[in-house]
Amino acid sequence: MKFVNEFRSRSLTGKLVNAINGIMPEREVRLMEVCGTHTASFYRFGLDRLIPPGLKLISGPGCPVCVTAEGFIDAACGLAKDKDTLVLSFGDMLRVPGSNSSLEEAGGKFSNVRLVYSPLEALKIASDHPGKKVIFLAVGFETTAGSIALTVLAAKKKKLKNLFFYSALKLIPPAMEYILSDPRQRLDGFLCPGHVSAIIGTRAYAPVLKKYRIPLCVAGFEPVDILEGFYLLLKQIKNNSPRIDNQYLRVVRGPGNIKAQRITGRVFRVSDASWRGLGGLPLSGLELKKEFAFFDAKRQFSLKENPSFTRGGRKKCGCADVLKGLLSPKECPLFFKACTPENPYGPCMVSREGACNAYFKYRR
Ligand code: SF4
Repeated sequence: MKFVNEFRSRSLTGKLVNAINGIMPEREVRLMEVCGTHTASFYRFGLDRLIPPGLKLISGPGCPVCVTAEGFIDAACGLAKDKDTLVLSFGDMLRVPGSNSSLEEAGGKFSNVRLVYSPLEALKIASDHPGKKVIFLAVGFETTAGSIALTVLAAKKKKLKNLFFYSALKLIPPAMEYILSDPRQRLDGFLCPGHVSAIIGTRAYAPVLKKYRIPLCVAGFEPVDILEGFYLLLKQIKNNSPRIDNQYLRVVRGPGNIKAQRITGRVFRVSDASWRGLGGLPLSGLELKKEFAFFDAKRQFSLKENPSFTRGGRKKCGCADVLKGLLSPKECPLFFKACTPENPYGPCMVSREGACNAYFKYRR
């Protein structure tokens, strides 16, 4: 497979592992990734077993489902209990626990929660069900925002009166800044997310670099990408010259995808947002602009998210610390006992992109 097998090459990964060993300092180096696909690839390809033991890759708040606040799930479950609504969601969201139930449980009772694969499906579902209020749960990072913005524009053009969007869209650079502002963190660099960076570009990390002087490298998701990302970060650490490297040149450019940024900016404005485990972060989310208020489920249904659930999550669940990179999945007392992918207690076990799920699948 072109552009896949080359990046899984045994000889290339071997060379990169040698290069990493050659440049590795004689101390522990802690790198963080903020992308669920990096989390899954790292364990799936056994990269943790190839790199020197002193090189640690820590998962941060990079799984969109995992960082969706309990208050949002609770409000969405409330919507699903109204027999006149249809709640549309991406698959991973259905099993994420709120404070009382997940959407799957709420939908099971009222059978008005539907799984969709693309936000554009919402247009047809709304047209086919004129008697229902159709609410699309807009969950994701900068990567997803553009396609949701396009759907809002299409809904306006079609003059749909029964389609609404409930936004929990979030932005990655403010989350990185939050992580770095925590005095308990001991991080030496960030492996920046490939998908998000394809949209926002490498330049979007300039404020993080300026404020924290920390090595940054955008990387792809195949073994060669991730290992080369490690090598570039170690080189910055060795030379004591923090910068923004771009390993994922075949996809990511400095300015990013301007078209996607414009479409997103046309429909959404940057707002404060609640993150599970991290709490309320200023200017870290996207909400619909006033011009699109008619489509904004939050305004139309007067939705209130209980902020008390956005800090720690469910009692005993270690997700808050897992999302901040302060706890490894295996250190959570519920891991593999009360919490498994079949019976998830916290969101990090639900999604394929969650750290606990990846750890369970590949390292249990
Ligand atoms: S093992 Fe389960 S309960 Fe523990 S942190 Fe992970 S998802 Fe949360």
